[in-house]
Amino acid sequence: MGPLDPSDDSGLFRRKDLLGLRFLAASEITHILDVAEQFRGLNLRSIKKVPTLRGKSVVHLFLEPSTRTRTSFDIAAKRMSADTFSISGGASSATKGETLMDTARNLAAMHPDIIVIRHSRAGGAAAVAKALPDTSIINAGDGACEHPTQGLLDLLTIRRALGGFRGRVVTIIGDITHSRVARSNIHGLVKVGAIVRVCGPPTLIPAGIEELGVQVHHTLQTAMHGADVLMALRIQKERIPRGGHFFPTTREYSRLYGINRDKLRRWGNKDVVVMHPGPINRGIELEPEVADGEWSVILNQVENGVAVRMACLYLALGGERAAAQEGRG
Ligand code: ASP
Repeated sequence: MGPLDPSDDSGLFRRKDLLGLRFLAASEITHILDVAEQFRGLNLRSIKKVPTLRGKSVVHLFLEPSTRTRTSFDIAAKRMSADTFSISGGASSATKGETLMDTARNLAAMHPDIIVIRHSRAGGAAAVAKALPDTSIINAGDGACEHPTQGLLDLLTIRRALGGFRGRVVTIIGDITHSRVARSNIHGLVKVGAIVRVCGPPTLIPAGIEELGVQVHHTLQTAMHGADVLMALRIQKERIPRGGHFFPTTREYSRLYGINRDKLRRWGNKDVVVMHPGPINRGIELEPEVADGEWSVILNQVENGVAVRMACLYLALGGERAAAQEGRG
């Protein structure tokens, strides 16, 4: 029995939209990871196409820059035979003043099955999902709020590296205040039983974050002690208001919070793994020797991103419900 087994409908994903890991139960999260695990194999075959989403159309509406997320959503949809359409910020009517809601409503009038949205406004994807009852919406990053598919691919990578989550220590380092990746990881990891630490200068850690179930550290040495995973984040310059000063200099930030070989050898667990959602600012949050070294699972994250996005498209489009019905009929 597996999640794609039509006779097993125990953990069906029954949601129209995927908006954030804060909305999902631990069982839904692990179910998505299990489905993604099954899609991983497909990505390693020489022929990578299956007819699973034939006849479905997927619109990728990316109104903020993206490399990995957008490409992997596109690859995921195409490998499942969906028709895909991409719209990016500079090439869309957003540049003419159209609101996200108007753009989404107009796209929905063309009856796509799913719209994958990246937008700078926190809650943007959720507002569209509410307004469009007949179109599935996947949040591919809403401002500093959430990036659920990144959180899921990070969880899949951690589960594959460590074999599970319970009692494992994950330390997220850097710009926690402005990072949607941090927020999705915190929600997801806490739900599945990991111990989550956040580490950074006080100015980059939002007040009250402990309420999400995380421990706060301001020194890298204590945050790294006993950690199984170190997740480095990029400073989200584009979300820092002009004139805002969150740390003295990049050099100072890197000295205190950047990860290099020396710090890993002195303070790190022997088997610690290092993650980063990309894009990396080499020499700031990670030295190249770490990003490309034996600790790094960064390219595994990217690889797992395709399988996770296949799972999310498949589940949000009700593929699992359809398979279960067929199995019964
Ligand atoms: N790619 C991730 C995001 O879109 C992380 C980053 O940009 O730093 O949030």
